[in-house]
Amino acid sequence: MLDTLRQIVQEVNSTEDLAEALDIVVRQVSRALESDACSVYLIDPHTKEYVLAATEGLNTKVGKVRLKLGQGLIGLVGDREEPINVENMLSHPNFFASPGLGEENFHGFLGVPMIHQRRVMGIITIYQSEQRLFAEDEQSFLVTLAAQLVGVIAHAQVVGTEFLQKSIWKRRKKQSLNYNGIPACSGVAFGQSIVIYPSARLDLVPERKTEDIDSEFKRYTEAVEIVKGEITNLRDGLTNFLNEENRAVFDVYIQILESDSLYSDVKAEILKGFWAPWALRKVIDGYIAELEKTNNEYMLERKDDFRELGRRVLSQLQSQKRLTPNYPDNTILIGEQLTAASIAEVPEGKLAGVVSLEGSSNSHLSILARALGIPTVVGLEGACLKELDNKEVIVDGYYGQIYINPDRAVRREFIRLKKEEDDLQAELSELRDLPAETIDGHRVKLEVNTGLAADISQSLQVGAEGVGLYRTEIPFMARDRFPTENEQTIIYRQLLKAFSPRPVTMRTLDIGGDKSLPYFEINEQNPFLGWRGIRVTLDHPDIFLVQMKAMLRANAGLGNLRILLPFISSIGELEEAMRLYRQAYDEVREDYPDLEKPELGVMIEVPAAVTMAEDIARRVDFLSVGSNDLTQYILAVDRNNSRVANLYESLHPAVLRALKQIVDNGKAERCSVSICGEIAGDPIATIILLALGYDSLSMSASRLLQVKWVIRNFTKQRSEELLEEIWALDDAQEIRRYMESVLEEEGLGGLVRAGK
Ligand code: PEP
Ligand code: MG
Repeated sequence: MLDTLRQIVQEVNSTEDLAEALDIVVRQVSRALESDACSVYLIDPHTKEYVLAATEGLNTKVGKVRLKLGQGLIGLVGDREEPINVENMLSHPNFFASPGLGEENFHGFLGVPMIHQRRVMGIITIYQSEQRLFAEDEQSFLVTLAAQLVGVIAHAQVVGTEFLQKSIWKRRKKQSLNYNGIPACSGVAFGQSIVIYPSARLDLVPERKTEDIDSEFKRYTEAVEIVKGEITNLRDGLTNFLNEENRAVFDVYIQILESDSLYSDVKAEILKGFWAPWALRKVIDGYIAELEKTNNEYMLERKDDFRELGRRVLSQLQSQKRLTPNYPDNTILIGEQLTAASIAEVPEGKLAGVVSLEGSSNSHLSILARALGIPTVVGLEGACLKELDNKEVIVDGYYGQIYINPDRAVRREFIRLKKEEDDLQAELSELRDLPAETIDGHRVKLEVNTGLAADISQSLQVGAEGVGLYRTEIPFMARDRFPTENEQTIIYRQLLKAFSPRPVTMRTLDIGGDKSLPYFEINEQNPFLGWRGIRVTLDHPDIFLVQMKAMLRANAGLGNLRILLPFISSIGELEEAMRLYRQAYDEVREDYPDLEKPELGVMIEVPAAVTMAEDIARRVDFLSVGSNDLTQYILAVDRNNSRVANLYESLHPAVLRALKQIVDNGKAERCSVSICGEIAGDPIATIILLALGYDSLSMSASRLLQVKWVIRNFTKQRSEELLEEIWALDDAQEIRRYMESVLEEEGLGGLVRAGK
């Protein structure tokens, strides 16, 4: 049975046409289980009806039979969310004969729900003429198949395939729609949507023959030209984000596309009579297989370049009209799973809002959006990309809602709220030079997290007191080799100078997990528990020493550098890192005899470091809490996985207790304690962090004035009283709601919802 299942799934995956995929399913299931009929019903998300989408053995056209939720045996399967196996469906109280379908000829019935992320997407049924219960193994076969198939259906719904739009979904009269998602960056945005379609999958391209070799070859050549143009534009568009050298990786792509071998190898496959997508897949697969055989590191690292290029050329072949979108002035960028690169593709000043159907509030896309202060919603439920394209859109980044073609009343209301928000922003900008001090005189230092060049001016504009976290991996990411000591020195010195005399906390390279370098691939089954952060750099003292020496050199004569070590989970690691730090310092001091030794700190982002916080604090100058990772490790929730995004909560009582333990232990050793995870920039959490006693909060520049506003409206004493009440709450949502009401009562509601 496993072989049959695998074969069906493979066949389904080899077609991009949902109607064809469902036909394969009903045909193959009928054959494999020797049933007399098999059907698939899909839910029309607009009318909330089951629609017959494919059938083998029943006599009607797909799209014509529609059942209400809860109606008939199909409805019962959906309501109960479990398989229903009936010996004689005609005598079942829920049986409902859809006219003209011919179900009256059958008796045995098995219906299995297709469920995706707790949502029923459809039902798959099999029928038998004689009265009988289906066997257990038949039932588990269908359950397994349904679980595999539902991903394909969910994806088709997101993309809005032609089959769904024309045959399954009813046309809607109502034009305005709204969707719920997860708020990722607060603020209200108005604009026109541009949808970025999901990337093409080279591994799913089927082998197909063509009669028209000339036109296949022509369209391949055109696709390559478009991709070359696309990459050149992307490279030039990053001028404000990355320096010349960092953009060099794009030149490598162009060289590959222009190489004679790629061109002639694809041509040779097309000449054998294959269509262009298959020729491309075959050649790229062949190159990757060859690269995998070599022991040459450099060549091995080229694999990803070939994959990326193959994907881009394929997406051109699959939709020859896909050109760089014409971004309107107020672009609301929408995609299934947008990346930081897709944000960078929008010309400067045109991006108003971001909506990613997948993603979580702590993915790097969300962090980047917050750094840029762009209202963002992720993890949208039940949306279809096609319906979102080129529409008037309102993004409410407070409540995680988006409105498509909003009606007049909604538009008017949001115009009012946006106006209030702009007024509030103007008021907040007056706080720029005022201290972040509570009413009873308690000072908190407010710093920024940086990584992009564009951050610097924005950070200074909001009056940041320093950089609490500089993620050094960003300049490492966009090149095709490790930067040299000299190159790094130049980059670091620019930042130190820009902020001087304010302190700049530079974190040593923190790769692994979800952050990889194009030229230093880390392939692991469990990357978040694997070779990450300090573990990588301690295993590569060459990389670590070069980086620390570059930082120390950059600091010569300035003296505002602090060094931060990521992902420390044991004292042994810390001591080894400290030994290397001393070595780097001694080496650089040979050139600069008066060299100062910058403060050294440790990120507390692993549960082990929480329990060892006192021992760590005794050895270093400061602690900085990485609450993004700490939350994921305490709650065992992948911070980037949209399936569990609803479980990722930095206000979870378990996380708050850890935050208390860290600050108490750090203080016991007279160590300063700061926090640089995203919670530091969440106005809802400000009072809690204040009460816990954090000395410094480091956040996206776009959040700094909001946090300052909260601090300036409370006394330290009141925050401590509120914290006592919070310890009595045992649920993150309850804590969130409670803190929202506190801000609202103080007249600070404009920080947590649209309006003032
Ligand atoms: C963190 O983990 O909280 C953090 C600040 O680091 P990053 O988000 O870069 O992992
Ligand atoms: Mg981290």
